[in-house]
Amino acid sequence: MNGADVSLAGFAHEIRDLGGVCFLVLRDRTGIAQVTLVKKMVDRALFNMVRSLSRESVVSVKGIVKAEPKAPRGFEVIPNEIKIVSSAEVPLPLDTTGKVECELDTRLDSRFMDIRRPCVLAAFEIESAVLRGVRDYFYSKSITEVFTPKIVAAATEGGTDLFPISYFEREAFLNQSPQLYKQMLMAAGMDKVFEIGPIFRAEEHDTRRHLNEAISIDIAVSFADDKDVMNLAEGAVVSAYKYVSENCKRQLGVLGLELEVPRTPFRRITYTEALEIASKEGKVQMQWGDDLDTETERLLGNTIGEHYFLMDWPSSIKPYYTQPYEDKPEICRGFDLMHPRMELASGAQRVHDYKLLVERIKEKGLDPAGFEFYLRAFKYGMPPHAGWGLGLSRLVMTMLNLENIRDAVIFPRDRMRLVP
Ligand code: ATP
Ligand code: MN
Repeated sequence: MNGADVSLAGFAHEIRDLGGVCFLVLRDRTGIAQVTLVKKMVDRALFNMVRSLSRESVVSVKGIVKAEPKAPRGFEVIPNEIKIVSSAEVPLPLDTTGKVECELDTRLDSRFMDIRRPCVLAAFEIESAVLRGVRDYFYSKSITEVFTPKIVAAATEGGTDLFPISYFEREAFLNQSPQLYKQMLMAAGMDKVFEIGPIFRAEEHDTRRHLNEAISIDIAVSFADDKDVMNLAEGAVVSAYKYVSENCKRQLGVLGLELEVPRTPFRRITYTEALEIASKEGKVQMQWGDDLDTETERLLGNTIGEHYFLMDWPSSIKPYYTQPYEDKPEICRGFDLMHPRMELASGAQRVHDYKLLVERIKEKGLDPAGFEFYLRAFKYGMPPHAGWGLGLSRLVMTMLNLENIRDAVIFPRDRMRLVP
């Protein structure tokens, strides 16, 4: 490498003018490189140009590599040509050196600049690796990737948490979940499908783990029950962790993280056991039959301390498409995959019997007529099936110990933020 010709390009991370020598530190997504200009040895105009360069301008450099123990990575570049490709205005909207702490909102307003910071970029590169780990796992299980529509006519769960849009002469909605479409693909004989795509929730929450647009990793598998797809959820999560720990060492280093691949099998506890565990640990306000409140969830997470499954939920608090136990219909084959900090995924064996499904829809106070397009798929041969939906950003934020889901989404959408 010493003595080799190089050409590089990147952002001007830092310009240090020491009088007789000037250092231009270039940065790209892989790191930084030092370009050294000794006043006596380079063209005067070139020296002055670099000295007055504004930080974060895009610059290209041609030169020769020289070993220099004091330089970052042990090398410097002695330039013979430097071009300002695109100069940056002053002042910058954000400090990219990380020396000045800045508010999340300010950062999100100038996200393009924020992501130039290595610790911000690292999380998104890891997110891509998470997806690769998950996809590899699905391919290894011969699961077919599909796409289902995001513009739909009806709500998945009949709720009000939908964004209406105008669709020619009609009203339509942004889909809150691919649930119904995944199930219809089981009737289509596709057997095992996965989809990675956006879900839209018009909920007015203001939390660190909810957004109004999120990426969901969804699967549906025929001739499978809840336990079968719990194994697939565990496998997908572990595959993501493994892929990241093997392929993102540099990014993990930037974040100062040592990633531990979760131990398997994940603990599996029933909803009823969960209430017992939590009430031993602290004061539990909720009753059997209530959805888990945040306090109970926190108690459980602290006690268990690693990924776990919560299964056998009361049928009354899981959606109509969740299969009740045949011998004990007040509980169902629904489960949540939990990280100690929060829910990562919800899944279940689904109802595949047409009559039962209609009954369940009515019990939830919904009108089966609104689900005709979906219900038809259950009338002409429907395999028993199961599946789940897992929030990508929650997987990334728990993996990287990020405070806020907004740190795991490039352009987050919440009640207050529609731009950029
Ligand atoms: P929560 O109880 O945490 O609000 P949920 O039970 O309403 O979530 P599901 O409908 O079960 O969510 O969706 C499946 C998964 O999708 C969740 O476990 C979560 O990882 C992710 N998810 C759901 N809603 C959101 C959201 N608003 N923002 C980010 N991720 C979400
Ligand atoms: Mn859920």
